[in-house]
Amino acid sequence: MTERVYNFYPGPATLPLEVLEEAQKELLNFHNTGMSVLEISHRGKDYEAVHNETESLFKELLKAPDDYRVLFMGGGASTQFALVALNFLTQGTEADYIVTGSFAQKAQEEAARIGKANIAATTKDDNFNRLPEKGEIKLSKAPVYIHMTSNNTIYGTQWQEIPTFDGIPLIADVSSDILSRPFDVSKFGLIYAGAQKNLGPAGVTLVLISPDMLAKANKNLPVIFQYGTFAKNDSLYNTPPAFAIYLINLVLKWIKRNGGLDAMAKRNQEKAGYIYDAIDNSDGFYQGHARKECRSLMNVTFRLPNEELENAFVAEAKKANLIGIKGHRSVGGMRASIYNAMPMEGCKCLAELMKDFAKKNG
Ligand SMILES: *Cc1c(COP(=O)(O)O)cnc(C)c1O
Repeated sequence: MTERVYNFYPGPATLPLEVLEEAQKELLNFHNTGMSVLEISHRGKDYEAVHNETESLFKELLKAPDDYRVLFMGGGASTQFALVALNFLTQGTEADYIVTGSFAQKAQEEAARIGKANIAATTKDDNFNRLPEKGEIKLSKAPVYIHMTSNNTIYGTQWQEIPTFDGIPLIADVSSDILSRPFDVSKFGLIYAGAQKNLGPAGVTLVLISPDMLAKANKNLPVIFQYGTFAKNDSLYNTPPAFAIYLINLVLKWIKRNGGLDAMAKRNQEKAGYIYDAIDNSDGFYQGHARKECRSLMNVTFRLPNEELENAFVAEAKKANLIGIKGHRSVGGMRASIYNAMPMEGCKCLAELMKDFAKKNG
């Protein structure tokens, strides 16, 4: 393989080529230090500048309120499933979970090991092909937070409009659609995202937390599990995943250069549009998994008439340099993950292949 392919893997996922080239260019000599960014102290001014700029760029792109804090943590989104509960679901309290996919379910199950974590709604009976209506969400009396997942990576559903609940802090796992569209973070007490879908490489998890939530976070935990520790020390209590943060810094600049979140949303709509059109115009050859009104712009899930054709499709795609489109086993079929960094051309190529393949095999 000598040329770059179109990489539709769900995560770790494709990164902007420009970003990889920049990282490559300065890998051996970072900002004239004579050292790689991989080698320099996390307490030196060269790294610190990257660290602080990444925090401010992230807030700038999201238009986050000034007093919200960005934390760089380890352990992936899965660690946040536990940390959210450890920090807020203290004894005698309860929290409500909106279960719209297997990651949402894992978040609820992890919290249930720590405290009282109710399922306020679940669409499991429909194999998570939709999101619950507001009327289906049954809140408990006094939840300390409501947890939701903004985009369901495996099933290909995405909240079009974020529900709000008077006076109850909302917490969201935004791992697979952060920075893909304008997003009113002031509605949330806390959001978190593993980086490897839409932000950068695996190894760092971004948390954005409001001052209210920070004040409420549990202080009777090992210090390394407290959000307060990360806030107080600007995420430098211990060694942060510096290289991952550096790459995120480059990705954020790439997003900014390319017009910010409004431009990302517009582009993502057009990209997903090619593939959804190919599904909808196939006379039923392709069946989308997600209900139309819940469709994700990040992960497009669909089936073919049978598994044999699905295997043949994957093989054809591979020949055309379209890699990683096999769906998750819990849905079957195909999943095209088309995060910010997936070029328009990749989506067009996939849509073309879908049309050709349906014509030949339909
Ligand atoms: C990928 C993903 C996760 C799991 O992330 P890790 O960083 O591997 O722990 C959790 N939630 C969502 C929505 C995801 O897409």
